[in-house]
Amino acid sequence: MHDHHDHDHDNELDDMTARVRALETVLTEKGLVDPAAVDAIIDTYEHRVGPRNGAAVVARAWADPAFADWLRRDATAAIASMGFTGRQGEHMVAVFNTPEEHNLVVCTLCSCYPWPVLGLPPAWYKAPDYRARAVREPRAVLAGFGVTLPETTRIRVWDSTAEIRYLVVPERPAGTEGMDEAALAALVTRDSMIGAGLPRAPEAA
Ligand code: FE
Repeated sequence: MHDHHDHDHDNELDDMTARVRALETVLTEKGLVDPAAVDAIIDTYEHRVGPRNGAAVVARAWADPAFADWLRRDATAAIASMGFTGRQGEHMVAVFNTPEEHNLVVCTLCSCYPWPVLGLPPAWYKAPDYRARAVREPRAVLAGFGVTLPETTRIRVWDSTAEIRYLVVPERPAGTEGMDEAALAALVTRDSMIGAGLPRAPEAA
């Protein structure tokens, strides 16, 4: 046994929280940050920006072939037309799943993620395990998410960068003919827009 103090995850989290609080207090006292502005930014990414935005984009692409075509050609503009713009979404690329090809998104370097359409990344997206294995053994990673694709479906892995952020447009589920955009959007999960999941079946919604 080494002599370091016991460092479990809860302690690390508490330590991190304490450091953030201390920094915020100092910055506020020096007049460098406005606590209301910090609260507004956190509220934006916790409540207002999130995967429901991306789900609305996917649902529109499913319902409107002209929009899907625009999304394929210029995702940044098509997504901005729905009001979803901002940091980490300046250069968007939409990749469309087909029976022949499934798209999976990762950031092997860190955790680049399309904030305006998906909000903040889930913990697993930032984990070293996912970042390493998504590229090396994507089929096994997908199986870990409960996604088993036919052997004939090629898996294409997209590595996000500081420049380009990807949105996966999953295949429209069968049995959704005649559903409107709101009903379709309810089938689109966050993980399906990363490629780590599939949309819900209409009977499960
Ligand atoms: Fe990154």
